[in-house]
Amino acid sequence: MNIILFGAPGSGKGTQAVVLNERLGLKHISLGDILRKEVKDNSPVGLKVKSYMERGELVPDDLVAAVIANHLSTEGFILDGYPRNVAQAEKLEAVLRNLNLAIDSFVYMEVAKDTVIDRLTKRIVCKTCGSVYHLRNMPPRQEGVCDSCGGELIQRKDDTPEVISNRWEVFLRESAKLIDFYDKQGKLFRVDANKDKDAVFEKIKLKLNE
Ligand code: AMP
Repeated sequence: MNIILFGAPGSGKGTQAVVLNERLGLKHISLGDILRKEVKDNSPVGLKVKSYMERGELVPDDLVAAVIANHLSTEGFILDGYPRNVAQAEKLEAVLRNLNLAIDSFVYMEVAKDTVIDRLTKRIVCKTCGSVYHLRNMPPRQEGVCDSCGGELIQRKDDTPEVISNRWEVFLRESAKLIDFYDKQGKLFRVDANKDKDAVFEKIKLKLNE
């Protein structure tokens, strides 16, 4: 099974992808995580994408298409954060066709702007392993310390109010046509993602079973 998790920043794509990975064994491919690692490593790709990410703008399509193509799996995957526009979806189709693969479901995690602002301004992530926490809803056992690996918990640079606002605008600009693209293929599933982690997972599971 090959799934796309789509939604605004803060809709919970990463959180649900981790659960789906644990329950279904599908490879979790987070483009944001891959790009952040490139930036951290000061790689040639990292140097090219850094300024876009800091501003909350989309990295150019050709660049991300090449990155994602290197991470696809023939064993089943969850794509988190890719594609984000129709041009990326078309490039993805072409790559998958060559591999004799296809997308089965496009899960659109619908979320309100207020929920996004609350989740992202209170989100902290592990500098070492990338685990995600929320200061109120999902706090770590010890303040500032990752439960999984003991790493330092920090706020992402793009989780500031101004950049969140820009990311939300970018999402609105790109999303309608992309949703339509998968709707026409009969692959669109809408899920109310304002609820908590377990409730959202139950809904996704129900949709995928259908
Ligand atoms: P995320 O971790 O999904 O919130 O992504 C963080 C940032 O990485 C975004 O604000 C973009 O700058 C970049 N990025 C992630 N996914 C994509 C994509 N599909 N296309 C272009 N840029 C992306």
